[in-house]
Amino acid sequence: MRVFHTVEEVVQWRTQELKDTRSRESIGFVPTMGCLHSGHASLISKSVSENTYTVVSIFVNPSQFAPTEDLDNYPRTLPDDIKMLESLNVDVLFAPNAHVMYPQGIPLNVEKQRGPFVSVLGLSEKLEGETRPNFFRGVATVVTKLFNIVMADVAYFGQKDIQQFIVLQCMVDELFVNTKLQMMPIVRNSSGLALSSRNKYLCPKSLKIAENLYRGLKAAEIAIKGLASGARLSRSEIIDIVTQIWAPYVDSHDFKIDYISLADFKTLDELSLVENTREQQPLVISCAVYVTDRENPNTIVRLIDNIVI
Ligand code: AMP
Repeated sequence: MRVFHTVEEVVQWRTQELKDTRSRESIGFVPTMGCLHSGHASLISKSVSENTYTVVSIFVNPSQFAPTEDLDNYPRTLPDDIKMLESLNVDVLFAPNAHVMYPQGIPLNVEKQRGPFVSVLGLSEKLEGETRPNFFRGVATVVTKLFNIVMADVAYFGQKDIQQFIVLQCMVDELFVNTKLQMMPIVRNSSGLALSSRNKYLCPKSLKIAENLYRGLKAAEIAIKGLASGARLSRSEIIDIVTQIWAPYVDSHDFKIDYISLADFKTLDELSLVENTREQQPLVISCAVYVTDRENPNTIVRLIDNIVI
């Protein structure tokens, strides 16, 4: 595997490897923030199986972190990540530093930022955007930069960050970007907990409790899928199903709910009811929950999860 830290190295590799523009060679790309786990590996394996070359990037992108968030503490495990990428037969790792990606510097305070930024208005303000107002501006900006450097045919993203996928799909469509996006299913542990780099912050007991995130969403899915023909459930009935399962953990202060959303899969508009009819469009039930670590109560980890129905 080649490991590159500069844009020039990636561009040079690309022009050398893909000299014959008439051939069917393709580049698959998986952008990550590192601390790789089996969720990332599923995206990477898919890319390796579908493309001539696979490029993975590891970059903890400052512009998607608010000044109050965990940029400095975000887990960084580059030597282990490199081992995993080599075992998965990745061709290129691009691991730039912040100066390469943001030549004018990247203060976390948005008012002090300089240079080009990409906003996807309308979708970015919803759900995650309500709590993290500049998050998708940071994501769309870094992904645009990475797409322009790697010039991949296809890029793989996880359903775990479903709003990210929907925002980026809109960006690619409407900025006429020449890289196709593919969404891959959420990889979970055997108890249903979605794998996440941030799970590392939690002790085993709190990780066990965090498994209830999925249990709650799953109960709502079962209720929706079990609707008789023509029957309906209101938004509040569905949200009650989830909160009832989470109630013991809210009461014990293990969980603090940030949001539970029941939304149209394409527009992310909130739904007031769900019906079992042919007209019912695909929907996504998603959540963000603050989980307080039992061993170290100063550690509060914001976890997200979702199910597409
Ligand atoms: P991150 O390193 O957290 O930015 O994630 C990089 C990519 O991996 C994103 O497209 C995520 O959606 C995806 N990803 C993270 N966790 C999982 C998971 N448990 N299952 C599938 N994809 C995931």
